[in-house]
Amino acid sequence: MSMDSLITVENLYRYYGELCAVHDLCFEVRRGEVLGFLGPNGAGKSTTMRIIGGNLAPSAGRVLINGVDILDQPVLAKAELGFLPETPPLYRDLTVNEYLVYCARINRIPRSQQRAAIDSAKERCGLTEVGRRLIANLSKGYQQRVGIAQAIIHSPSVVLLDEPTVGLDPIQIREIRALIRDVANEHSVVLSTHILPEVQSVCDRVQIINRGRLVLNESIEQMREKLQATTLLIALRSMPSISELESVAGVASVELVEDGRVRIGYGAESDPSDAIVEQAVANGWGLHELTPERMTLEQVFVDITSSDAHAHGESGKHGGKGEAA
Ligand code: ATP
Repeated sequence: MSMDSLITVENLYRYYGELCAVHDLCFEVRRGEVLGFLGPNGAGKSTTMRIIGGNLAPSAGRVLINGVDILDQPVLAKAELGFLPETPPLYRDLTVNEYLVYCARINRIPRSQQRAAIDSAKERCGLTEVGRRLIANLSKGYQQRVGIAQAIIHSPSVVLLDEPTVGLDPIQIREIRALIRDVANEHSVVLSTHILPEVQSVCDRVQIINRGRLVLNESIEQMREKLQATTLLIALRSMPSISELESVAGVASVELVEDGRVRIGYGAESDPSDAIVEQAVANGWGLHELTPERMTLEQVFVDITSSDAHAHGESGKHGGKGEAA
């Protein structure tokens, strides 16, 4: 465990009966970091978030919040932790003010500091004008702001947000994303989502979970490099041999695509477009199409999760007890 680790997850497992929803998860969240926790539906994101948040016991493994074991000393650990679960824990019959007073109390904020804590959380979440409204009467976007306000009211070092923009309309999504960015300025954040641009716009690091296992853990910088490693799609009337194409300067790979076109892979620093055009003219290949294909995070995500599913489905190598179907 590193010195500045706010969340340390060690060999975490969670079974639901025979189903292994979380399998040997290990990772850290450091001070100041915004971690995107990505995964398809059913991957185990909510299960992991609930265990880290202290709402669900793991089958094995442990979670430390700022060095404190969440199971051994939950009160101490939770003082450093804010949690917005997938279903926000809102009391719809309370006003925003009443609810936040309740949250300030259960988070053991000293009475003399409650007012300031509530005002500050309301201001940061854009709730100052709606303090007297019943939560039930707020739009879903505003209800989500209240959910975020309760997660930050006690100024925790780290905030867990489980799918915070699900079910919101596009305008509300933009507003909540801006709010998450603001929260990230003052707290470390773990943001679970399946919305990829959210990760790209907010996070420093991305971690992909699939079928309960971590399949990728990279900085956004590393991810960007990966996204820059692009391919070209070319169409030629008079197809040369694969080896001729492979010998063009900068070409790293050549793949025939079903529709007769050719996908050319290359490294981030060596775009072979010019060389391909020159060779095509010199050798009469009849180049009539050259289209850059940019890898999106979505493709990376689909590639990783589907190849992982393939590996598990085919080989049975990891086919332990209770493996997800
Ligand atoms: P989603 O985005 O759909 O919420 P997720 O990545 O958060 O997905 P989890 O909710 O953690 O995934 O679920 C992981 C697996 O565990 C799924 O196969 C799910 O069906 C199963 N699961 C979750 N909760 C329970 C439960 N209480 N009892 C039995 N199985 C469960």
